[in-house]
Amino acid sequence: MEGTNVVRTRYAPSPTGHLHIGGARTALFCYLLAKKTDGKFIVRIEDTDQERNVAGAEEEQLANLQWLGIAWDESVDVGGPYGPYRSMERLDTYETYLQRLADEGKTYPCYCTKEELDEAREAQLKRGEMPRYSGRCRHLSAAERQQFEAEGRKPVTRFRVPAGQTIVVDDLVRGRVTFESDGIGDFVIARADGRPMYNFAVTVDDALMKITHVIRGEEHLSNTPLQILLYEALGFPVPHFAHLSLILNRERQKMSKRDESIVQFVDQYRQLGYLPQAIVNFLALLGWSPPGEHSEEEVFSREQLAELFSLDRLSKAPAVFDPDKLNWLNNHYIKAADLDDVVALCTPHLEAAGLIAAERTAKEDEWVRRLVTLYQEQLKYGAEIVELAELFFQQQLNYGEEAKEVLIEEHVLDVLQELQRQLNSLDSFTPKAFKQAMKATQKATGQKGKKLFMPVRAALTGSVHGPDLGESLALIGREKVLARLQWLIDNYAQTVAK
Ligand code: GLU
Repeated sequence: MEGTNVVRTRYAPSPTGHLHIGGARTALFCYLLAKKTDGKFIVRIEDTDQERNVAGAEEEQLANLQWLGIAWDESVDVGGPYGPYRSMERLDTYETYLQRLADEGKTYPCYCTKEELDEAREAQLKRGEMPRYSGRCRHLSAAERQQFEAEGRKPVTRFRVPAGQTIVVDDLVRGRVTFESDGIGDFVIARADGRPMYNFAVTVDDALMKITHVIRGEEHLSNTPLQILLYEALGFPVPHFAHLSLILNRERQKMSKRDESIVQFVDQYRQLGYLPQAIVNFLALLGWSPPGEHSEEEVFSREQLAELFSLDRLSKAPAVFDPDKLNWLNNHYIKAADLDDVVALCTPHLEAAGLIAAERTAKEDEWVRRLVTLYQEQLKYGAEIVELAELFFQQQLNYGEEAKEVLIEEHVLDVLQELQRQLNSLDSFTPKAFKQAMKATQKATGQKGKKLFMPVRAALTGSVHGPDLGESLALIGREKVLARLQWLIDNYAQTVAK
């Protein structure tokens, strides 16, 4: 068995939905701390809130963590010395500790109905008090309990919160945060059917799994005093806590999972053709900053992060989620990636858009490779290829305003007609042959440089910007290029007219 000083961190998702970027960041920081310290990273599935569980969510979350390369040492699939790692398989364990607390008089059964609780809450709010459980069932006599049981009421279990205590959370990010136990009502730790509530299950699990550092989102800070009370009641050592700052959107508002204007789930990024290295890099900088001489850098590999990571560089201030930064990073990794990998990011999108066939010949595949090569430098994510490469697939070009401005110049029609003659006389339609045709056009028309190239690009692609023209035209193919040219010559006046 490992020594007692080994750092053990855990990510504990509830299988209630997709892996959110906030969850992925928590998992990443847990993973990085474990890597940095030669510790262990555990993924535990907290599935006791069964009403909220979603079929397939556990598998999806694990698959996406795996895709990000956030590898765990212990979990539901690989097991480990402190399993099982799924809460619903630990009911016997919770039962043991529930019984212990009951025997010690630290809990009591509560028979209040939802209606009674709501009513009490309303009354408290009306009096301007902070709503919390009144303690109504705290001192029931045996006879009163029997009476409720006879009525068929099934009790939940409440924890008896000790009065007059100041609970100190020595948070590794936020510093010393204190809570008064008098502000915390006796809280429910187990449902009527015995299933534990989050605060109880998490405490028992973290303690038994020997978690040394509980790293999680700031939204859990208010749960921490409740958990500390439970650690103390159960006689478990209290772990270190680190609550990660909130992630805000660019408007500096708290991100809502329902906000569809921003992509928030890891799987969506995966589908859109982002690289896991970019997402990991991006997430690492959400609330953490690299030390010393690295503080101005933006690009970090997973290995580098594991080397540089430390909790003392986590920030208390909220982190702002900047999609442009993610795109910049993803473009950085796309530029550095093998062409095959970039092709793999792009092809599903070209297929889905109906631009290329799903079943392709070797020749067609080679065409796709050449197409992607043209865009590898500028591509921000795989799906973007569909819009970037539009000009390769359009039957009828769309001439933008900039293109029209170039095309309207007096000498242009002459250039286009000459180019048409030259292209018609080519034997092959390679980039090299195109170059020759351009040279010949230059000679015949006396136009050169921008005056020659801009109108040709505009005429054949519809735009004044774009990738290498010779290679682009070779990929578009002779027939289509000549058809475009013919069409523009025939419709020149209408097309350039303002
Ligand atoms: N299951 C909890 C959640 O998904 C875990 C919170 C914690 O890390 O303690 O929010």
